Amino acid sequence: MKTIFDKSVAGREGCWPCEGMAEEAYIPSELLRSGEIGLPSASELDVVRHFTKLSQRNFGVDGNFYPLGSCTMKYNPKFTENAAALPGFTRLHPVLPQLQGAGGLCQGALEVMYETESLLSELTGMSAYTLHPMAGAHGELTGVMLMAAYHKDKGNKKTKIIVPDSAHGTNPASAAIAGYEVISIESRDGIVDPKALAEVLDDQVAGMMMTCPNTLGLFEKHLPEIVRMLREVDALLYYDGANLNAIMGKMRVGDVGFDIVHLNLHKTFATPHGGGGPGSGPVGVSEKLVPYLPISRVAKQEDGQFFLDYNYPKSIGYISPFYGNFGVVLRAYAYILRLGGPGLARATENAVLAANYMRKRLADHFEVPYNRICMHEFVASASAQAEKGIRALDIAKALLDKGHHAPTVYFPLIVPESIMIEPTETENKETLDAFIDDLIDIVTMVDTNPDAIHAAPVTLPVTRLDETKAARSMELTDDL
Ligand SMILES: *Cc1c(COP(=O)(O)O)cnc(C)c1O
Repeated sequence: MKTIFDKSVAGREGCWPCEGMAEEAYIPSELLRSGEIGLPSASELDVVRHFTKLSQRNFGVDGNFYPLGSCTMKYNPKFTENAAALPGFTRLHPVLPQLQGAGGLCQGALEVMYETESLLSELTGMSAYTLHPMAGAHGELTGVMLMAAYHKDKGNKKTKIIVPDSAHGTNPASAAIAGYEVISIESRDGIVDPKALAEVLDDQVAGMMMTCPNTLGLFEKHLPEIVRMLREVDALLYYDGANLNAIMGKMRVGDVGFDIVHLNLHKTFATPHGGGGPGSGPVGVSEKLVPYLPISRVAKQEDGQFFLDYNYPKSIGYISPFYGNFGVVLRAYAYILRLGGPGLARATENAVLAANYMRKRLADHFEVPYNRICMHEFVASASAQAEKGIRALDIAKALLDKGHHAPTVYFPLIVPESIMIEPTETENKETLDAFIDDLIDIVTMVDTNPDAIHAAPVTLPVTRLDETKAARSMELTDDL
């Protein structure tokens, strides 16, 4: 496909900013460039068709099923997009005066942040939230910094953080970046084993980071015991709640005794995931950690007006400019209010039901190492197929030819040849069945036509790439 530059024909401009006016009339002469600008010349219709065709080459959830485990690539309703596009919000600038009397237009935006914090607190049983972190991993880092601030303030000398091997990969990374020694413990039967925890637990432990449900899609059923054990050594409990669509409306993290939690608004709360952002990873804390939350914090004056409060002497300070990704928060706010408590609980029920339905059907044809009730996702293994020369990656590629996005492969690391499937709450039964039927087809082909699987994908603009070269020496203008 030609690039828009290849399609450029001199003189075929669509329009100029101020038709018939000399540039000097609206741009100060010292700001005018002296050389050619180098942009392509094309008519509006050429441009619209070019980019429409390009967009159709993208794989997106608006077009097809996208069961990428641990990522929640669900369909997000368009009303949340409309809310985020309201000019009253998009035209605000962060340094506009905040208070109404001062000529500020920001009261509505500040109220949205204030309300979202309290809705998230209610949903998870935490005392307060910060909306600043820009994504899940940023939330984790913020959470670990809060742990550090708490222990420092109390005079505790703590150097270690425990992370189970079934946690998300960002957990140990966040703990290490914050300067802690990461102690890994092995899961037993797919979940954290309190005995393994007891072996490494001592008063050097600052906290423990738990992903729940964990990366196998399993609920950690020993949570109460784990909370009790950590409390004994004044260690804090961190809950990786990136995938809240597994427990939302059913369990409140704070009620179980967790001190810190991060949520991924770009997974559960109606911001499209993928494409690299924007994200939002709010962090909620229990009462004893509130003084350390990042600044600014949204506060309410006695007269009911909202403002950004920077006066928190024990705060860990700034973790992002102003207050994070406001547009993502706005979508979450609209989504929570529209669904309400019962609606959010139903989203969870549907996510868990869809995952278990797929797991059940697939387990007749595939190895599922922990084949019991799962939460929002489950992990199958292509070990049996790998023995015959077809690996998880080959199966993922073959799925592309059938019009589906591939599931996550080779993560989590604790299952060999793992295929991690998350159907999400928004897909209907026909879509789930079509995907499973195609996956079963591929498993049959392992015996009947393995060459076709090795050759896949053959229906896409790009076939199998050398993935290292694709990243290191990109060819962006290929005539495909
Ligand atoms: C996605 C995910 C993260 C990381 O979130 P990012 O926004 O990608 O940084 C952390 N933990 C779990 C369990 C996740 O699923």
